Amino acid sequence: MAQFFAYVQHADGVIEDTAAELAAAAKAMGADSVTAIVTGSGVDAAASAAGEFFNEVYKIDNADLAYPNAEVVRKAVAAVVPAGSVVLMSHGTFAMDMGPGLSIKTNAAYIADVTGIDGVDGTTLKVVRTELGGNISTHVNADIANGAVITLRPGAVEPAAGGVGGAVADKSGEAGDLSAKRKFIEVVTPEAGGVDITKAEVLVSIGRGIEEEDNIELAMELKEAIGSKAEVSCSRPIVDAKWLEPARQVGTSGKTVKPNVYLALGISGSFQHLGGIKGGIIIAVNKNPNAPIFQAADYGIEADILEFIPALTEKINDL
Ligand SMILES: Cc1cc2nc3c(=O)[nH]c(=O)nc-3n(C[C@H](O)[C@H](O)[C@H](O)COP(=O)(O)OP(=O)(O)OC[C@H]3O[C@@H](n4cnc5c(N)ncnc54)[C@H](O)[C@@H]3O)c2cc1C
Repeated sequence: MAQFFAYVQHADGVIEDTAAELAAAAKAMGADSVTAIVTGSGVDAAASAAGEFFNEVYKIDNADLAYPNAEVVRKAVAAVVPAGSVVLMSHGTFAMDMGPGLSIKTNAAYIADVTGIDGVDGTTLKVVRTELGGNISTHVNADIANGAVITLRPGAVEPAAGGVGGAVADKSGEAGDLSAKRKFIEVVTPEAGGVDITKAEVLVSIGRGIEEEDNIELAMELKEAIGSKAEVSCSRPIVDAKWLEPARQVGTSGKTVKPNVYLALGISGSFQHLGGIKGGIIIAVNKNPNAPIFQAADYGIEADILEFIPALTEKINDL
């Protein structure tokens, strides 16, 4: 059995929620024990937080790892994992940058954007991926005899329970040469005071069905009627049209959200959009009864949102 590792991303000492998903995925792939890898500069808090979900934590602490430069992190990770290991990462822009090169460096298979795990048969790992823009699911058999680098779609598996209590091992001295051709210039943080849809309890989320920029106001009025726990979010075409700012986009290339209630208004339900919704009751309103969003929704309403939204706002204001 290969040794299993999970690369754990973190910020300000807090590890990403996906760490618990990576731990669960490794177990579903047959791992008895899973080791987290935490890299950065001053990572003690993040490393001990990772111990909550993993049997052991490799800490690689080095000033050269202060910024998420995939070229450097890849070198550090490749230096500490034994040949034939399976390395899991959460599928996102950083994993897409680091994963392929890591698989080449370690001569391991590369399996990207895994959405399901069918099991293991000897050295054959069976997983599910979506292809052709999310229109089909493919069952992939990968030979992991030489190890693998696997990126897991956020939300694809139920997170593992915590309380594991893995000890931290300092591997900083084994990271080797961390020089890089690529220079990390700066981290651009969102403007202070900007909207944070990840904290909202109710999301009034609009899609292309809103039809015109002027109609965005309808969603804003509904949000106001619901109150301070609500926020307006959207699908990508609304951001592409510059009708709303990127911080409001839900999806695989936007934000991951976990509201109590997600009102999907005029959103078709692409996998890229649904990939960003990780919890809550989904209420979909769409004028097309065959819209895919109805497959994912807890409640579905066939209606024209341009009539539905003002009517709902009025009802709430009348309460
Ligand atoms: C690499 C990549 C990453 C992507 N990342 C994201 C992402 O992070 N987030 C994201 O959202 N998308 C993302 N996309 C785009 C995604 O594939 C879809 O194109 C997008 O989610 C569709 O948005 P939509 O549902 O608003 O629009 P559409 O698919 O056009 O759906 C509009 C819906 O509105 C309904 N409708 C129209 N008028 C009305 C009305 N008056 N009343 C009620 N219903 C109405 C229609 O029946 C339809 O179902 C990504 C795509 C790629 C290739």
